[in-house]
Amino acid sequence: MLQMSLNRALIFLGPPGAGKGTQANRVARRYEVPHLSTGDMLRDAVTRGTELGRMAKPIMERGELVPDDIVLGMVEERLSRPDAKSGFIFDGFPRTIPQAEQLDEILKRRGFSKPVVVEFHVNADVLLHRVAGRWTCSVGGETYNVFERPPKVAGVCDNDGGKLVQRCDDRPEVVKERLAAYERQTKPLEDYYRRKGVLEVVDGTANVEEVSRALAEIIKRAEGRDGHL
Ligand SMILES: [Zn+2]
Repeated sequence: MLQMSLNRALIFLGPPGAGKGTQANRVARRYEVPHLSTGDMLRDAVTRGTELGRMAKPIMERGELVPDDIVLGMVEERLSRPDAKSGFIFDGFPRTIPQAEQLDEILKRRGFSKPVVVEFHVNADVLLHRVAGRWTCSVGGETYNVFERPPKVAGVCDNDGGKLVQRCDDRPEVVKERLAAYERQTKPLEDYYRRKGVLEVVDGTANVEEVSRALAEIIKRAEGRDGHL
């Protein structure tokens, strides 16, 4: 198989439930690049007891938001590790314009080409339907969708017979609120990246294979696109 290289940051934007995580895992495997989330980075830094981790720990324990300086410090530390040198995927980061601006600086400093930013566009009604149908196994954590991928027996996990429950996060009113929060906070980021000419859009409600194909096309088009933001 042809050796494919990403050589840049791939940034996925989109509300929870838009399929970013699934696609990030697929692309990470395909291009052998790490799939990064700031949540994992924070937990890792705390576990390893790094300087930034020690600063973040009490803030996280109080349930407060870790300030951008600490988060961006961790991002830079993470991107300097060897496994990130041929590219990486960010899923759920940056969340704000100041974070995006600081990330641009880090990418420039570390010699990465222009990122590819992909908006997972979803129609609110479709997303609500998708998330509202999601039930999770209380034993093994498997997820089902009563509309699209129902278990063989209603309310029971196919694998281990566990009882299926609807997570609090998947209740319609919670989903609606999360979508509204996403719109308020992250929409401006799409405009930011669109102005920079690096925003691509995929249909987050298409099936997994279709979205994968669209992403492969986007990555292919980006190859050879050099320079910084
Ligand atoms: Zn199960």
